[in-house]
Amino acid sequence: MKKKHTEKPLFPHLPERLSGLEDLAENLWWSWNPGARMLFKALDRQAWKESGHNPDKMLREFPSPLLEKAGVDPDYIRRYDDVMNQFNTYMGQKKCGLMEPVLPDHTYAVAYFSAEFGLHRSLPFYAGGLGFLAGDFIKECSDLCVPLVAVGFMYPEGYFKQRIPDDGWQQNLIESVNREAAPISKVLDKDGTQLVIEVGLTDPPIHVAVWKVAVGRVSLYLMDTDIDINDPWNRGISARLYTGDLEQRLRQEIVLGLGGAQMLKALGIDHYLLHLNEGHAAFALLERIRETVATGKDFPAALKKNIKATVFTTHTPVPAGHDVFPFYLIEKYFQSYWPGLGLDRNAFFQLGIHPEKPEHGFNMTALALRLSGCRNAVSRRHSQVSQQMWQSLWPGIPEDKVPIDYVTNGVHVPTWIEPKMKLLLDKYIGADWLDRHDDPGIWQRLDTVPDIELWQTHYWLKVKLIDAIRERSRLRWANGDASTSITLTGGALLDPSVLTIGFARRFATYKRALLIFKDLERLKKHLKDRWRPIQIIFAGKAHPADDPGKRLLQDLINLARNPQLGGRIAFVEDYGEQLAQYLVHGVDIWLNNPLPPFEASGTSGMKASLNGVPQLSILDGWWEEGFNEKNGWGVEHDKTSPDPDGSDADKLYQALEQKIIPLYYNMSDNGIPHEWVGLMKETMKSTGAQFSARRMVKQYIEKFYSKCMEGALKD
Ligand SMILES: *Cc1c(COP(=O)(O)O)cnc(C)c1O
Repeated sequence: MKKKHTEKPLFPHLPERLSGLEDLAENLWWSWNPGARMLFKALDRQAWKESGHNPDKMLREFPSPLLEKAGVDPDYIRRYDDVMNQFNTYMGQKKCGLMEPVLPDHTYAVAYFSAEFGLHRSLPFYAGGLGFLAGDFIKECSDLCVPLVAVGFMYPEGYFKQRIPDDGWQQNLIESVNREAAPISKVLDKDGTQLVIEVGLTDPPIHVAVWKVAVGRVSLYLMDTDIDINDPWNRGISARLYTGDLEQRLRQEIVLGLGGAQMLKALGIDHYLLHLNEGHAAFALLERIRETVATGKDFPAALKKNIKATVFTTHTPVPAGHDVFPFYLIEKYFQSYWPGLGLDRNAFFQLGIHPEKPEHGFNMTALALRLSGCRNAVSRRHSQVSQQMWQSLWPGIPEDKVPIDYVTNGVHVPTWIEPKMKLLLDKYIGADWLDRHDDPGIWQRLDTVPDIELWQTHYWLKVKLIDAIRERSRLRWANGDASTSITLTGGALLDPSVLTIGFARRFATYKRALLIFKDLERLKKHLKDRWRPIQIIFAGKAHPADDPGKRLLQDLINLARNPQLGGRIAFVEDYGEQLAQYLVHGVDIWLNNPLPPFEASGTSGMKASLNGVPQLSILDGWWEEGFNEKNGWGVEHDKTSPDPDGSDADKLYQALEQKIIPLYYNMSDNGIPHEWVGLMKETMKSTGAQFSARRMVKQYIEKFYSKCMEGALKD
């Protein structure tokens, strides 16, 4: 596939000596390689900051004299050559030994479909955890040379930006993505214009323009319906993530699934295996079956042939997370489609029926479960819950034998380890630790890190977090669009010497953001303690359609503004990738208190753990596997209690009062809390390897990909 700069250079003013910066800017590899980031930052710190850490945007607007100057600066050139060498070596390496079968050209082992990808702040195509999981997954596939191609959406409006006005009721601002300044490139057809495919289920058909994001060695193809040739309704299909309009949402999923499959075909990309990250793309499975039926097989035979080569990952036990469409809509869009599958109306509807609630409609998760040979949940606990939820699809099979396996989520370590922390680990646990980070043994060497150095690194990160938050508050205030009280509680009152708890996640009600306020007087004592105070930093968005979530957020804002809580509660607007980086690196404790069993896995806690931030969490999702009694606190939810929330909150307070606060403030004469630092080390030692995306991707390969590939290659 040609990239846009085969047309003309993207940055014509780039000196020849630095021409590689274009390749670098156009491949997100730079985002997880500190050396590459430094290369852009070193050109001009201010411009780097103003671009939102987006080299594409920065270079486009960058004055040529400064580029000329860098092109003859020996120090810069040395760094440049170094990074370009690393990049070219990385990109040149095609086989890393994990997926052995040799594939013909343009054939990928896996096509990975996801409705969202969280890769970097410059590509706001994510709403939350599902997107970051997908982003981390494909970054790791790149690192491990997994022959994989990814499919998703280009959302011209991204996800909304959050603003909190004086009344505390979240405003959702829409900001269009500037496609020209994003690290994406047009995929061109033979005549050099952008490739557009047609999804023919509707009249007029939906036209989809194709973009590409280079994620290291992995290509992510994004579909965009916001083009002139489409009517306004069709244009709006990819406008934003998870539209609340049911019909438009169905049309989104038609484009993602059927359109995605057709797009791969138009690109000449073959694949053996389909991996669906959640059920939104399940129609892609139908398209493959339809092709087999077209060769003369009947539906059962076509299903049998294709089912082996399909992996479906389910991500949530929350009912609203499973799309269900009314039958009349399915009929409207698919009545011309099902004959091609050799099915009639009833047989087609049956594919999407949940046996316990057939009248509800066409369930995308049920469809995906029926048509996939490998199915998995995203933590041990979540697989048990999923087996229970979907037992009725396998009548006669006992619950614990329901074929939904699990691979616990993990995070892409090079993306989430803070660069200063990485340097410290380079120094003490081995310069090659990052290459071997899924080996638990390597983390045991953390014992050799002097307490003072780990503590100073952490403290520096905490200061950096608080500085970044204050800077946001300052800008909000200076722009004149925030009241003083909003500015103050947006972070201006934070104090780096205070024990700092972080809580950042979507404001969905099951996440119970306000649990820690359950006994306000008890909490207040600690917030206002003269000698050993605590402070809590909150962040997170409520879904635009989720009024109960917004109400929770409003209550929180009111609490933060209440002077009786001592200015120790901060709410930081517009949680996204960048803020997440600061928070998971810089807080002292990561708090998570969802109502079990709704947290399928959770990944933000893993990011914090990786950087030595211990957890104070309810035992649910990943933490049920991660907690070892020495690496933080695990609260067992008691659902038989007459007041389960109260009982959970009580346990959180007990942990704070009896353990966390005394341990944290027990400093030696030179200001180092040695026991606390020991806890930080134990946190990293016990979770760094186990909750890495590398461990996760390897497990997907072992459990599913290899097995499926064998079957697919045999056919
Ligand atoms: C990691 C991450 C998430 C996922 O967090 P959980 O609440 O743990 O599922 C969501 N948003 C952002 C910005 C993240 O970086």
